Parts: sequence; structure tokens; C-alpha cells
Amino acid sequence: MSPDIIIIGAGIGGATLASALAPSGARVLILERGEALKDCPEARDPEAIFRHGYFRPDEMWVDAAGGRFNPGNYYHPGGNSKFYGAVLMRYREVDFAPLRHMEGLTPGWPFAYQNLERYYSMAEALYQVRGAADQDPTEPPRSAPLPFPPVPDEPTITALRRAFQAQGLHPAALPLGVDIGTWLQGGATTWDAFPNTRGGKMDAETCALAEALKYPNVTLMTGARVTRLLAANRKVTGVELTHQAQRLTLSAPLICLCAGAVVSAALLLASADSASPAGLANSSDQVGRNFMNHNLSAVIGFNPLRRNTSVYAKTIQLNDWYLTGGQGGTPLGNIQMLGRVTGPILAAESGLPRRLAGFIADHSVHMMTMSEDLPKPESRVIWRGGQIHLQWERSNMAAHGLLSQRLKTALRRAGWPIVFTKEFGKRTPSHQCGTCRMGADPRGSVVDPDLKAHDFDNLYIADASVLPTSAAVNPSLTIAALALRLGAHLTERRAA
Ligand SMILES: Cc1cc2nc3c(=O)[nH]c(=O)nc-3n(C[C@H](O)[C@H](O)[C@H](O)COP(=O)(O)OP(=O)(O)OC[C@H]3O[C@@H](n4cnc5c(N)ncnc54)[C@H](O)[C@@H]3O)c2cc1C
Repeated sequence: MSPDIIIIGAGIGGATLASALAPSGARVLILERGEALKDCPEARDPEAIFRHGYFRPDEMWVDAAGGRFNPGNYYHPGGNSKFYGAVLMRYREVDFAPLRHMEGLTPGWPFAYQNLERYYSMAEALYQVRGAADQDPTEPPRSAPLPFPPVPDEPTITALRRAFQAQGLHPAALPLGVDIGTWLQGGATTWDAFPNTRGGKMDAETCALAEALKYPNVTLMTGARVTRLLAANRKVTGVELTHQAQRLTLSAPLICLCAGAVVSAALLLASADSASPAGLANSSDQVGRNFMNHNLSAVIGFNPLRRNTSVYAKTIQLNDWYLTGGQGGTPLGNIQMLGRVTGPILAAESGLPRRLAGFIADHSVHMMTMSEDLPKPESRVIWRGGQIHLQWERSNMAAHGLLSQRLKTALRRAGWPIVFTKEFGKRTPSHQCGTCRMGADPRGSVVDPDLKAHDFDNLYIADASVLPTSAAVNPSLTIAALALRLGAHLTERRAA
């Protein structure tokens, strides 16, 4: 039976969109490059994950200097969310308007926060978010409470929360898609960067895809790697893919591209033809541009006389400097706990000897600063010689440095006197976004505010690539809210 809608990719965008379309009765075919992640001993083995890159894909990308690297970009039903930290957080209301930062102005969104609010609530219900929205002064207005109470702080984190409060700061529960009891039954580790193979983490496969596949009109085809889109007369007419060593071409009246920010842009560029020599949907020359990935640093507060007894740790955040705090009251960003960094993780990430790393990890608290990466056309994905080239140009690093400095001071005051910071490297584009940005003006954007490609009548994009700004919050809930909004739009479009 031929599908009404083809969705390419079963990650946060694609699986959430499928869950929204399923009740409409439309025949939805999801093409997913990867196979389902199976449980194995390595799933809870920090050496396998952090030292040996056991789950990294068999793929190389090329960086701006021409160096080849193995990216931490994961291909399975559920996409990168199989490994994510499950922080499911709304953009702040001001993030939708143009914002002045220390190093420039962000463009703003083509619509206001209020336009997405109800879809945020739906996404929080779908991903069963735990949290306490009233604890954070930057929390935007909401029409529904969070569905579950927060994941409990462990004693070391309770003490840290109190020490921050004593400084007049406002630590708040992280909104999390984690059922902590179930997660810990699978092993005593954090969930951040560990794959979800034993349950307990609410990811795109376990929540959205599972919901979509309850409907007989939704079909998932795994091991289906899309290689090219075919187009004619403002329509995508075919989707070329490889499946079980065979080349196939499939078609449907509506095509939704949800392969993740880097791959979706690369696919459009790789689909160049004589009518679109610069790539499909690229009359604006914006496909692949404005790549953003957040400025992230690990900030570790060490005290040889104190022990961190936590197992998962990732339960609090600080937004005291989110909106102001930089020069002239400019935004600095979000601070949140990292998942518990243990000795094997620290040794693998830092190169320190194992025993020393173990001592430091057990006598420190581990946090992350996250600042907005501003969109720049020169920061981009390029498809060249059959390969992905990722030329990420960081921006707004002065604000990021200041945010890390603020956290350093707060950690010292909280009783963790020696503080180390380390920027996250470029090998893991974990918060990748922006490469097919949404906008009202077809000259400056790839998709319109309904996520339809300006250049095509039947091509939609619903993944991190459409985000016009990265804000300074984890992206998944916003991608999911946009996908639910698109699901409602397509259901209406088909009914009409
Ligand atoms: C270690 C880690 C921690 C993170 N922590 C958080 C967090 O705490 N909170 C948060 O909000 N975000 C977090 N993220 C980011 C989050 O996972 C992504 O923002 C989110 O998954 C992006 O959704 P997406 O739909 O754009 O892409 P993805 O979810 O990655 O989905 C893309 C899908 O397309 C498939 N695909 C790719 N190419 C093809 C092809 N050619 N043919 C067919 N299918 C294809 C992929 O296999 C995948 O299933 C984290 C990411 C990582 C790696």
C-alpha cells in the first residue's frame, strides 16, 4: 500500500511527528537509517562508552581544517535521544524575540512563544516530564502543570542546592524525562550519554515512536538509509534509499525530512539536480548555513575533603544569569548538573591516570554551562566529495567565559574551592541545529513558519535544523513541540 506521508528519520522530530499524525488515519511510512538498539553489557559500561566509543557510528565527517573525525551522532530508532540527558526544557519567552547578546543580535522567531505553548504542554505529556516549574524564575507561562513531580535530588545535590540558595541564587529542578526507579533497576549509573536499552529514559523511541506504532496505519522501516530526494515542478517526487543492500525509490504526496540538523542539510545538498544545482530547497542559499551547537563547558568543583555520594546527580539547574548577567544586561545562559561523572568517565575524557581521576571524581561536583551560539552564515554543513563537512564557527564565547566564571565563584562559595573547566569538543554535535532555518522571508530561510520548504509544495522539515536560534536550553522539547504543531497542521491540510 503506498503511503500518504513519508517521514525520513525516527528521532525526536520524526517520531514525535508520527505520533501526532497516527490518529488521523493517514498512512505514514517512517524510513529510519538505523536498527533498534539492543541491550548489551556495554550499555552501562562507562569504559565502553567514553573510552572506546562503542556506540559511535561507523562514519567519518570532515572539520573546517580538513581533519576527519568520528562524530557522536547516533543512528537508531529514537536518534540521538537514545543517548540524551533527557532534560526537556522550554525555550524562555524572550528567546522568541530578537535578543542582544555580548557578540551580536539574534534574529528572533517568525512567531511568539504563545504560538507554541500548547504544543509544549502536549510534548511534556508525551515525554512524561518530571519537574517543578514554579522553582525557576525564568520559566515561561504555561497552560498545564508538568505531569510528574521532580526526580529527587541526592544528598550531595541537596547540599549544593542549599549552598546556592544561601548565596541568593535560585536553583531549580531540571525538567527530566526519566523514571528514576526503572532506570536504576538497569544499573547504578546516570542516564546522561548512556544509551536507553533497559528502560527508564523517555526518548523518542520509547515514547513517541511506541505511541505511533500502536496505530495500524503507521509503518516503520529500519535499515532504510535515504540517500537522495528527487524533485520536479515544486514537488519532491521520490525518495531514494538503500535497504538490505537494495536501492529503492519510494514516493508519497507529502514528504517530511527529520534526519537531524546535520544530515537533513547534507541530504538536501546531496540532492542537487539541474533545476537546483546548489541543492534542493536552497534558492535562499541557506541550506547548511547557520549551524549552531551551543557553547558548552564542564565545570568541576573539587574539594579533597568532601565526597560526592551521588549516583545520577543530574537534577538541578541555575538560570540566574540566563537573561542578564553579561555586559549591559545581556544574556549569559543556563547552568545545569552534568550526569554523575565517575572515575572511568573522567579518566577517559581527561587522560588523567585512573586512580587520580577516581579520587577527583568522587570528591567533586560536576556541572555544565550552556550559552547561546548565535547563527552565522559561515558556520555550516557542506556536502563535498560524498562526505559531510562540518565547519562549525563558534560565537558568543565571551559570554560563555563569563558564565563559567560566575559558576566558578558560586562553586567556591558553596564549598568546592578548586574549580576546573573544560570546553566540550567539536566531535559531538549533540545540540546541533539551525541548518534549514525557519522564517517568513524565503530569501533568508529554508522553511516557512509551517515548516514547509519555501521552494516546494509537499516538502516539510521537522527536526533541529529548522530552529532559527539555539537559545541556551536543551533543544529536544522545542523540536518535539514543533513536530506536534506540524502534525496538527498536516492533519488539517489533508482534511482540507
Ligand atoms: C549525549 C547527548 C546528550 C544530549 N542531551 C540532551 C538533553 O538532555 N536534552 C535535550 O533536549 N537534548 C539533548 N541532546 C540533543 C538531542 O538528542 C537532539 O537535540 C535531538 O535528538 C535532535 O532531534 P532531531 O529529530 O533533530 O534528530 P535525531 O533525534 O537525532 O533524529 C534523527 C533521526 O534520523 C535518522 N537518520 C539520519 N540520517 C538518515 C538517513 N539518511 N535516512 C534515514 N534516517 C536517517 C537517525 O537515525 C535518527 O533516528 C543530547 C544529545 C546527545 C548526543
